[in-house]
Order: sequence, then structure tokens, then C-alpha cells
Amino acid sequence: MRIEPKPAKNPGSLAGALCLDFANTAEWHASDHPRERLTGYAELLAWAKRRGVLGEKEIRALSLEAGRRPQEAVRVLRRAVELREAIYRVFSNLAHAKPAPRSALDLLNAELAESLGQARLRAGPAGFTWGWAESPGALERVLWPVMRSAADLLTSDLASRVGQCQDDRGCGWLFIDTSRNHTRRWCAMDDCGNRAKARRHYQRTQKNRSDVEVEQPAQT
Ligand SMILES: [Zn+2]
Repeated sequence: MRIEPKPAKNPGSLAGALCLDFANTAEWHASDHPRERLTGYAELLAWAKRRGVLGEKEIRALSLEAGRRPQEAVRVLRRAVELREAIYRVFSNLAHAKPAPRSALDLLNAELAESLGQARLRAGPAGFTWGWAESPGALERVLWPVMRSAADLLTSDLASRVGQCQDDRGCGWLFIDTSRNHTRRWCAMDDCGNRAKARRHYQRTQKNRSDVEVEQPAQT
């Protein structure tokens, strides 16, 4: 099976939750050959920037810190990919009404304990909001909001709305199905949705053609 790169698109606007967007940083995730987008710590930061996980100042500080401690940056990247795979497995199973794999849930709980330890309450004019400890040098701080998003989603009513792209090549993208009748099937209509539509059309025309071919001998 030939697997082509995904067209450029913003998965954040498609997934509906930060943790699912993070899970979608591997393309063709449900295929035998997933394509890695988090190929370095810089790519992890670039994703965090695109998704507004951290501010410009924090991103710059982390980028400098990663340059000073490259081995630690590699370690954090590996940890990020492991967390992403655990999130993917838990939510992918959830989308198919299967129980969460034990090892993936254990990893999520370990990351949750760590990230919640960094959570802080912030008092503002409009009330309290969630914030994080001031740790500009903590390379793993990118993961804290991701973990919180995963815990929030798993315990919310929207958990039952988590779906996975039904593309038969193994697109595997996860999303929250906000359609009224819970009928969303594709990551994006203009991507896997269009392909499925074209495929159905092709199969229909092939079927019509073979029907004609079968009928022809009787007609002659
Ligand atoms: Zn798809």
C-alpha cells in the first residue's frame, strides 16, 4: 500500500482537544507505517507554539535551554513520544469502546502525577484559573498541559464523543465528534472524506459496468 504524506492542515482545528491534537502528531497512526512528526525537541516546541500551549517567551527560553542540555532534550522528546503513544492507545480504544491498555493507563497516571504536581492556581480579576509552576528551564513543561487535557477529556461527557478517522489506509486521526447525530467518520471531509467519496463513486461505476457486462450476453 502506498502511503502519501498528509496535506498541510492544522490538526488542532480538527481534533477538538489538545491531547488528541498531540496524539495526531504521528500520521497514518493506525497503519503499519506511522509517520513521525515529532522528529526532534525543536519540532515538539514548534507544535506547542502552533497550538498555543506556551507563549513566545517560554518557547524561546526552552529552545535556549534545549541547546544547553541537548541530551536532556532528547530524553524529553522520547518521553513525549511515549506519552503520545499512550494517549493514542487509550483514546483509540475508547473510540472503539474497548478498555484502555493497562500499560498505557499506568504511563498516563505517572505523567499525571508529575504534571499535577506542577499545577498552580492563578488569581485574576475574573476569578481563578489553572496555571503552572514557574519553571522556565523544565524542558518537559510542554507535556503538562497535554496531560491535563487528556485527564479532563477522559473524565468529561465528551469522552463518549471521541472518534477515529475510518480511513481504510490507517489514517488513525482522533477527534471529538461534535456532529449532532454523532456521525462524523473522517478526520476531515476534504482529506480522507473526499477520498472515501471518490472510492465509493469508483466502486459504484465499476459495479454498474460489470452489471452491464453480465447482462450483455442475454441481450444478444
Ligand atoms: Zn483521516
